[in-house]
Amino acid sequence: MRKQKPLHWRKTWTEKQQSNWHDRIEFLEEALPFSKSLRIHRIPMLLDFGDCDEFPFHFIIRISNTLEYRSAVDTLLHELAHALEPNDWIHGAAFFDAYRRLWKADESYEEDFEYVGEL
Ligand SMILES: [Zn+2]
Repeated sequence: MRKQKPLHWRKTWTEKQQSNWHDRIEFLEEALPFSKSLRIHRIPMLLDFGDCDEFPFHFIIRISNTLEYRSAVDTLLHELAHALEPNDWIHGAAFFDAYRRLWKADESYEEDFEYVGEL
């Protein structure tokens, strides 16, 4: 869980960013051995950038819709690391190993747009 200031206004993404977001999630889901399916939602969150909850057959990851694209991706990687290592909620060594593996996989994902100006 990552904290943010309670300033909440929704960020509008370009269509390309939105389609990349879904494409990137599929890519990461295939690249790493998640033990359950993932449901990832961009929604209003008052206090956090994102969180991850484990259920018997899936994980639900919530990402704040106030984030710019690149910040949302960073938060996604953090929350996906929780889904990869659901027994390490306190950000211990297992969590950081999962986080590192996610960053590595994400580095091999190619955006189909250029970052220009505000992300
Ligand atoms: Zn966390």
